Formats: sequence, structure tokens, C-alpha cells
Amino acid sequence: MPFAKTHIHSPALSEEQISSKKLKTENLLSKNTDLYYGKTPLSVSDYPALKFEIYAKCSTTKARASLMHLPHHTAQTPMFMPVGTLGTMKGLTTRQLQDLDCHVILGNTYHLGSKPGQEIIEKAGGLHNFMNWPRGLLTDSGGFQMVSLLKLANITEEGVEFENPYDGQKMLLTPEESIGLQNTIGADIIMQLDDVVSSLISGPRVEEAMHRSIRWLDRCTKAHKNPTTQNLFPIVQGGLDVNLRKISAEEIIKRDFSGYAIGGLSGGEAKDQFWRMVNISTDILEETKPRYCMGVGYSEDLVVCSALGVDMYDCVFPTRTARFGNALVMGGSLLLRSGKYDKDFRPIDENCECLTCRKYTRAYLHSVVTKENVGCHLVSIHNIAFQMRLMREIRAAILEDRYPEYIRKFMKKRFGSQVPRWIINALKEVKVDLTIADNEGYVAEPVDQDVIKGVVDD
Ligand SMILES: [Zn+2]
Repeated sequence: MPFAKTHIHSPALSEEQISSKKLKTENLLSKNTDLYYGKTPLSVSDYPALKFEIYAKCSTTKARASLMHLPHHTAQTPMFMPVGTLGTMKGLTTRQLQDLDCHVILGNTYHLGSKPGQEIIEKAGGLHNFMNWPRGLLTDSGGFQMVSLLKLANITEEGVEFENPYDGQKMLLTPEESIGLQNTIGADIIMQLDDVVSSLISGPRVEEAMHRSIRWLDRCTKAHKNPTTQNLFPIVQGGLDVNLRKISAEEIIKRDFSGYAIGGLSGGEAKDQFWRMVNISTDILEETKPRYCMGVGYSEDLVVCSALGVDMYDCVFPTRTARFGNALVMGGSLLLRSGKYDKDFRPIDENCECLTCRKYTRAYLHSVVTKENVGCHLVSIHNIAFQMRLMREIRAAILEDRYPEYIRKFMKKRFGSQVPRWIINALKEVKVDLTIADNEGYVAEPVDQDVIKGVVDD
């Protein structure tokens, strides 16, 4: 494990030696790095546990490409962060996640707190050590998991009340406890406990939740014990209400944080409302700091939200869909269970460099997906590699100021000439009009459909 050895700060080395070693390590293990080095950042936001340097801004859209220096890793943004529920990605080792070019991964506080539990993680010296992951970690507050998984969750001003599914005991998760647990886990970025309501609900409950989330944010800030080694991110709430979103974002920027999250979306709301909420939030949240849109992972959403100025994403989708034998490709996904692959001796994607595409055929994968663990494992590897490659392409296009052309090429490949209307609307907002033909004659016609499955047939 050469990475672990060179990355750990050794007291015997000077600052300069450390940064040159760090640079070498990053060059070895993170692809695309040379697109950044030698350039001077356009802006720097410097906090004890997070330095955010913007290296390029798209001259048309709100997209930007940046380096985010965290205590455990320098991540390149925009980035996708895979979710590892119990500190492990289903079927993948941390070494494989490094090889797949993952910069930051997500841990679920609720699951980690229940099992193995705070005491064990504390004894192990934090989750980085416990799971042998040397790079960036982000943990959620635990609140969302409870509200979405547990029927018995009840929210009061004090916190989230719930029944522990492991032993049936009544429990209360307060902002203070969520932060205490996240301080023990030791992730580079930790999230405030917020009052989560479904994005399908409207009315006074949404307003109450937005205001309560701000009050809980202040309690989280007070309880946070490691501000020099861990970043607390606040979450913009306000449902699908423009005014509430604005109030929430404005309240948050009055306080001093190293980065921001946009929450309460991707819960089945109309996509035309989804992108508008993202756009309002990125208009208000300071441009010099990272912005994280929670729960987003479809490739077209990543391309659109990056154009709206989002830097970070997470989603269970790539690994969850792998379990059903669906392999992600630029045109959508290959349903490997389908009989039409039984004699198809091509890889999932000829242009993909992942282990699965180098060594296995669609015919083999067809015979093992959904039946054998190895099938899920191999498709997960490919799907994460796909997300990482997409994000590398997005970053390269922004750094070379050709993001609008990239968006058009992507949409053409993904949807052909019929593109969901919300995407056309969102891109128009940032001056990319898919309904006007480009040099190559590509022009898109809007379709009133939020998600086009895009099952590709090749
Ligand atoms: Zn692959």
C-alpha cells in the first residue's frame, strides 16, 4: 500500500517535502491531475479543514472545476461520491475504490451508529482506520435514513424519535447526538441534522421544517468538537417553494461554513421543479465555496446540475441498479439479464478501462448477474467506473472551456433528438439552447417526460 505510507503526514518531513510527495501520490492515483497543476486558481476559500480552489469557470454556464483540499485527500470537483452504507461498498474493497479513482465516499451515520456502533469506531480510531480508507469521507446526519426507513419516526423540536430496529428500543436522535457520532466517525465532511420532509409535501409543514432545520443547524455548530479537522455542512431546505428556499439559503450564508448542501430533493418531485430549486440555491450560495446536491446520481442530472454550479453529488443508484444486472453506459443502461446478451462476446463498453470491461464479456455477465455475487460485484465495478469517467469528462470539458459543446454531445448520445423538457428548460437558464442547431446540426425536441429509461440496444 504505497499510498497510505506516502499520504500520512510524517513529522520528519518539511512542509515542502510533504506537498511534493503528496503531489506525486496524487499524480499517480488521481487521473486528470495535470489539467490543474501549473494553473493559478481563480478563487480560493480557505478554512482549517477545507481549502476550495476554483481553477476554471465555464464562460457560458455556471459550471466550475475545482480542487477541494480535505484533511485526507485532495478531491477534484465536480465529483460523484459513491455510497458505502456500512463503511463498505457492496462487494467492493477500499483498494478497488481507490483504483476506480473515487476521491470521497459516503458513510451512513445511522447504520454506522447502530452497527458496529460508536464505541467500536472510537476504539478503532475513526472510520478511516476502521475500514482502511485513506481518502475523503463524508457522513450524513442519520436523520434522512430514519425518516425514510422507519415508519415510527416522529419529529419534535428536540430531535427525531424512533424505534431502534435492532433492539426495538425507543431512541431520540438530537442534533447534538448526530454531531457527536459524526465526530467519532471522523469524516472529512459531516452533515447537519435537518428536519426532512418529503419533496411531495407542501404547506405549513415545509415552512416549519425549514425554520427548524436552521435552529438545529445552530445546535449542530455548537456541538461540533472538531472544527479544525472536520467540516460541518449546512443543508438548504424549503421543499419546492422558491421563497422558502431563498430564506433558507440566505439564513445559511449569514453563518460561516466551508461548504453547503442542497437537500430535500430527488424524492420523486417533478424534474422541472427539481432543477429550479437547485438553480435558486446555487444563485444564492457563495460562489467561492463547494456546493453539494444530495441524492443525485443519474448521468443527465450530473451533467445538468454541474451546469447549474453544483460541485458534489452522491447516490445509491449506480450500485443499487448493478444488483439488478443493469450496466450504465452513455446511452442509458444495458439490462444484462436480457436473453439478447447470451451470445454477445463484447464487453459492456469497449471504451471503458475498468476490470469488468477488460476481462469479461456481456455473455458471461448475463449468465451470472442477479444469480451470483460475482455478477453484482463486476457490474458495480463498471458502474462506479462509469460515474467516475463521466465526472472526469465533465471536469476536463470545464477546464478546457468547452462544457456547452460537451453537454450537447452528451445529450445527443444519451437521448438522441428527443430530450426531456426539464433538461431543455434548465440548460436554457444557463444559456445552452438545445433547440437551436449546433455546427454539427444537432437539435433537440422537448418531450414531456421526466425520465427516459434509455435502454440501449447496441
Ligand atoms: Zn467498464
